Amino acid sequence: MSGTTKKLELLPLRDVVIFPQMIVPLFVGRPKSIAALEAAMNSNQEIFLVAQKQAKVNDPREDDLYRVGTISRMNQTLKLPDGTIRVLVEGVRRARLIDFISTDPHYSVNVEAIAEVEGETAEQRALRRAILQSFESYLDYARKVPKDVLKSLQGISNPGQLADTLVLSLNLKLRERQELLETYDPTARLERLYEIIQREIEILQVEQRIKSRIKKQMDRDPNRQQGQTPPTDGRTQGGPGGPDMEQDEFRNELKELEDQINKKGLTEEARSKALKELKKLRMMSPMSAEATVVRNYLDWMISLPWDETTEDNQDIDEAEKVLEEDHYGLKKPKERILEYLAVRTLVKDMKGPILCFIGPPGVGKTSIAKSISRATGRKFVRLSLGGVRDEAEIRGHRRTYIGALPGKLLQMMKKAGTNNPVMLLDEIDKMSSDFRGDPASALLEALDPEQNNVFNDHYLDVDYDLSKVMFLTTANYIQNIPPALKDRMEVIQLPGYTEEEKVEIARRYLMPKQQKNNGLQDYTVNITEGALRSVIFNYTREAGVRNLERELGTILRKIAVEVLKNSKKKQAKDQEKPININERNLEKYLGVAKFRDDYAGKQPEVGFTNGLAWTEVGGTLLQIEVNFLPGKGHLSLTGKLGDVMKESAQAALSWVRTQSDLMGLSDDFFQKHDIHVHVPEGAVPKDGPSAGVTIATSLVSALTGIPVRNDIAMTGETTLHGRVLPIGGLKEKILAAHRYHIKDIIIPEDNEKDLKDVPKHVMKALVIHPVKRVEEVLDLALVKPWIAEKEPEEDKAPDYVPREKSVPN
Ligand code: ADP
Repeated sequence: MSGTTKKLELLPLRDVVIFPQMIVPLFVGRPKSIAALEAAMNSNQEIFLVAQKQAKVNDPREDDLYRVGTISRMNQTLKLPDGTIRVLVEGVRRARLIDFISTDPHYSVNVEAIAEVEGETAEQRALRRAILQSFESYLDYARKVPKDVLKSLQGISNPGQLADTLVLSLNLKLRERQELLETYDPTARLERLYEIIQREIEILQVEQRIKSRIKKQMDRDPNRQQGQTPPTDGRTQGGPGGPDMEQDEFRNELKELEDQINKKGLTEEARSKALKELKKLRMMSPMSAEATVVRNYLDWMISLPWDETTEDNQDIDEAEKVLEEDHYGLKKPKERILEYLAVRTLVKDMKGPILCFIGPPGVGKTSIAKSISRATGRKFVRLSLGGVRDEAEIRGHRRTYIGALPGKLLQMMKKAGTNNPVMLLDEIDKMSSDFRGDPASALLEALDPEQNNVFNDHYLDVDYDLSKVMFLTTANYIQNIPPALKDRMEVIQLPGYTEEEKVEIARRYLMPKQQKNNGLQDYTVNITEGALRSVIFNYTREAGVRNLERELGTILRKIAVEVLKNSKKKQAKDQEKPININERNLEKYLGVAKFRDDYAGKQPEVGFTNGLAWTEVGGTLLQIEVNFLPGKGHLSLTGKLGDVMKESAQAALSWVRTQSDLMGLSDDFFQKHDIHVHVPEGAVPKDGPSAGVTIATSLVSALTGIPVRNDIAMTGETTLHGRVLPIGGLKEKILAAHRYHIKDIIIPEDNEKDLKDVPKHVMKALVIHPVKRVEEVLDLALVKPWIAEKEPEEDKAPDYVPREKSVPN
């Protein structure tokens, strides 16, 4: 953990602890501190910031200071008229004070920098998830913390850095902050923060309960209600000035609200409701809690779009051009979208289906929805349904509920500002329902053209017309969409891209986009095809292009820094020189490749088979491992996916047992051994049972000691009798095998018909082996024949199985 020692000036801080990455302005006024600051400014702009144990001590002595602080960089310094200096400091790294070199005219010290551990362990990852989750619930209570903090926290993958950043959003005492600064181990730091967040949630919960109890009591108290209502002429008993002015202001406000209600194109029902509320508001004391509730309600009424609308662009050629401009490939989805738009233009008030884009992350679902909004000239809003469980999130809370708000649908309408936006309902398959009602049914009402012109949000409590909205939806996986919703949708599949397509997307779309994002649009940046393929194969393994885009962004960001540094040194004309990225310098930008193993490059192994699965993130390789251990014939499945595969494993095992004879195993072999099937952690497959043949192959390989070819992958379910049954998601699985550069793929013969969906150029690179029976799979996948020469005598357990002698008992 120890790092380098250096000499720095020390600046004592009152009531604040600076963490690495933190940027804060400090106002420095004490003469000793100013001296330290000036000395630091004249050297290397670095300074050691350390907190005082007691804020009130004016001239802190050595013992008044903590021993751990932060080496910080000074950015802007500004001398203020009163002699104080405002300095913007940025925490760089933790450091420990070793000794004092001098104490006059300011403190100079030797410090030892503490290196932050890089990378993340599995434990830390779990902890990080747990913390983010509880922080999310914390945000529900802590209204003062802006919600987008969570987003930025989610983007931090370094555990230590996450902990340091979290500190900023929590209400901590100086002592606690200092303790966290002194906790060098990121795991310990995260654990401590987790405790703190839990504690804070509890406190806030209690606070909220008390508040709501008091409010209830106050609401019930008749004296208070009366006392609070001012005389209707607006005069209160107060003297001149204060209350009168307040009343004047209130009257102006009421007038303004009334004007706005009349000006806005509210429906008749909404207008009369709003005016009624306004009347109530007139009777209230301007500062009362009730008045705030009514005000908020009226604000909502006024700020929703009622008759604001955008003109649709009806030019289909233009729409086609936009779709082409924004996306590479996707021929079928684009065609289908154009048809949809054409029909919508021709049939006014279309009651047609709602488009649902289905596919793994990063295949362009969201961005194609944005394109549709661009093509039609409508506003775009996106409503994320992931994790929505409560009906009220969609339909709002009744106003009697403290802190009630309209549901997300109306919130989005307000954001759009027009009554006919394109609204993307994202991750519709990630919604769930619990005791608080079923959000899907509320959504269904909003999507139903028969009734969505009179959508009733609990908060608004008047009908709102959603019928002009163009709803689009996305999901990763169709089976998870609530059935009633699914019936209303027309599915457009976006299954994922091949390597070739990704190269094109990267070259034509992602690079120019990222170049622009990083301010490099005026520079020539060339990336070789080899480098692109390496980014795709060695740094990202995904069906979509999201990580690919991110990695390209990383490269360009680093290039931007280089360009800036160089431009300082060189003449302007040198900047014109093109920047080249190739396979040789790629590592400089992206670090060591994340995925190295090309599966075809490893060795065939015993008991280890490449299966294929279809998951929410697209097709993927799913390796299944089997071992035998001395035991009593139990079948155990481990790994996250164990349960999912149980039936497949049992069927496979039953068949394998019937083959013991052929493999030359003794009759009681299965009674004396436990079978252990391990399915490594991964996304849960969604294609139904499909690992039967993979498990059977691993079993036979483990039993016979014959390695399984590692350059072959397979999918298929099996019956007890060894027949191979068809499976789902074939296309995605084949694309996955292709992604891993595997050429030979075994598939159930009954799935042969699905091969027509696989892109031709992918098919060309592959050898597909359709099979009917498990025996055929074994012949193809094992490196040598698996049927033993008949040797009837002895128990022929394979060599690597531990001897029966070692069986306990
Ligand atoms: P999803 O919503 O499916 O998770 P996104 O729409 O967020 O995926 O896509 C991720 C990124 O990849 C976006 O920047 C998008 O523009 C880009 N992208 C995806 N598919 C294509 C394509 N066919 N052509 C160009 N860019 C694409």
